Amino acid sequence: MGAIAGVGILAAPQLAFTPSNPSFDKDFLIGKSDYAFRGPSWQMHQETYTSFQAMKKAAVDAGFNIEVVSAYRSFERQKQIYEGKYKRYTTAGLSPIQAIEKIIEYSTIPGTSRHHWGTDIDIIDRNGTPRPSSVLEAKHFYGAGPFCKLKEWLTTNAASFGFYEVYTDNAKRKGFKYEPWHFSYAPASRKMLADYGKLDVKQILLEEKLRGAAHFTDAFITKYRNENILDINPELIL
Ligand SMILES: [Zn+2]
Repeated sequence: MGAIAGVGILAAPQLAFTPSNPSFDKDFLIGKSDYAFRGPSWQMHQETYTSFQAMKKAAVDAGFNIEVVSAYRSFERQKQIYEGKYKRYTTAGLSPIQAIEKIIEYSTIPGTSRHHWGTDIDIIDRNGTPRPSSVLEAKHFYGAGPFCKLKEWLTTNAASFGFYEVYTDNAKRKGFKYEPWHFSYAPASRKMLADYGKLDVKQILLEEKLRGAAHFTDAFITKYRNENILDINPELIL
C-alpha cells in the first residue's frame, strides 16, 4: 500500500494539467501551451468557443455578423507585437520607459495577455459599414460608428452567454484604455485570472529577456499588476 500511495503522489504533478482540471499551469497562462483550442481562422479555448458559437448564432438572428479579429494569442505572437512597437516608438525618439508606457495603453507585455488564455476575444460586426481600415478603435463603436449597433446588442446580450467587457469605459479604472471590442468568457477566465495571480510576474518577464526589461522594476511590476492586470470589470474577478 505504501509503495502504491508513493507512486500516486509522484504521478500527481503530471496529471495536474488536464482539460477537466480547474487549475491552470504557468505555461498555459503565459501563452506557451496549445491546450484545447480550435476555430476556423483563429484559436479559442474549447468552452469559450462553444459559448461564442451560441452568441454568434443569436447575433445572426438579430442581424449581426460577429467577426473575430483576435482570440488566442501565443507568447511568441505577443512578443512580436510588443517588440515591434518598442522598436517603432524608440526609433521615433521615445525613451525606453516612455515606449513601454505607450505600448501598455492598449497592448500587453508578453506573458501577461488575457489573449494567452483563449478566453478573450476582440470582435466587430463584419456587416458594419463603411468598414474602417483600422477596426479596433473606440470611435467605431460609438454614435453612428459601423459597429455601434452590434455594441448595443452586446451590452444587452453578451452576459447571458458568459461574455463581459474587460477594459470598461469607467473613468475611475486604471490600466489599459477602454476597449469596447474586447470580451472575456467569464466562467473560464475568472479561474485563470485567479491562478495567474499566484504567478511571479516579474520573474516571468525577466526570464524572457524582453526589450526594455531593465525598466521592469518592482514598482513598475506592482503598478502594472494592480492597474493593467487587475483593474478590470469586477464581473471578471472571482
Ligand atoms: Zn483584445
